[in-house]
Amino acid sequence: MNNVVTQPPSASSSPRFCNTGTFMRMPSLRATEGLDFAIIGIPFDTGSSYRVGARFGPSAIRSISAMIKPNNVQMQVNVFEILRGADCGDISIIPGYIEASFEEIQKYLDPFVKAGIVPICLGGDHSITLAELRSIARKHGRISLVHFDSHLDLNTEVFGQKHNHGTPFRRAVEEGLIDPHSSIQVGMRGSLYNPDDFEIAADLGFRVIPADEVRELGIKETGRLIRERVGQNPAFFTFDIDFVDPAYAPGTGTPEVGGFTSYETLALIRETKDISFVGFDIVEVAPAYDWAEITAYMAANIGFEFISLLARKKKWG
Ligand code: MN
Ligand code: MN
Repeated sequence: MNNVVTQPPSASSSPRFCNTGTFMRMPSLRATEGLDFAIIGIPFDTGSSYRVGARFGPSAIRSISAMIKPNNVQMQVNVFEILRGADCGDISIIPGYIEASFEEIQKYLDPFVKAGIVPICLGGDHSITLAELRSIARKHGRISLVHFDSHLDLNTEVFGQKHNHGTPFRRAVEEGLIDPHSSIQVGMRGSLYNPDDFEIAADLGFRVIPADEVRELGIKETGRLIRERVGQNPAFFTFDIDFVDPAYAPGTGTPEVGGFTSYETLALIRETKDISFVGFDIVEVAPAYDWAEITAYMAANIGFEFISLLARKKKWG
């Protein structure tokens, strides 16, 4: 596959509001070879516990992602000069049926992951990450998790059920998909039912850097701790949009105040450079609660930073 088909058209020959519908106006492909990364939508929100609507996340993120240009100046990469990528569509999940949807997600992702293509998934609520990790672990074994969120998502069950957007990482530990001892959870805050939640996370082996501690440490030192924790292990980056303060990302199911600005968010993601990421997702964008597409635009830019991390790693190792 040559480079031409994996490049978006130039905005000086085709306006950015023409031919939208794919991420960053990339070609729409179903190929599972010849690519470095694939954008894949997972429009599933049956795992939400409060506001639903993240099923419309992928389409909102793609729509406003037309604004993003290929050069990431801070990361010193032109992503499409270094990487071949495509928008590989949405997974046909089954609304209302969590475990059947998980099977569809894994079935869809497996050929990409097996071919060494890095999936960048657009959710969907956070329950979908478990299915993504099942696919990733089948190829890479037990991986490290970099988890940005205002919540730990480590509940043993919610409403008496095993699968929900508050349980994926408890299941991932139980299933041996992630190694908590080289994993890190960043940005947690907000009121809790159980004041011991952070201790439970630590007992499972996770390192948690709550929002207060990120403030005390600063962006650079938090980034250094993340890189030190993960080392050169293959890692999965899962980003819950409620990590960002609701002033910057109101369109989400379970917002928590006291979060991070859009600037701090991008700066902290860039600090995870040098980690060997084998998969990414951005979850919990619920466009019905959004204003002026700011949440979707934040999510689209996070997707661009993920692509930039891959490009940087490929360029400099
Ligand atoms: Mn959350
Ligand atoms: Mn979450």
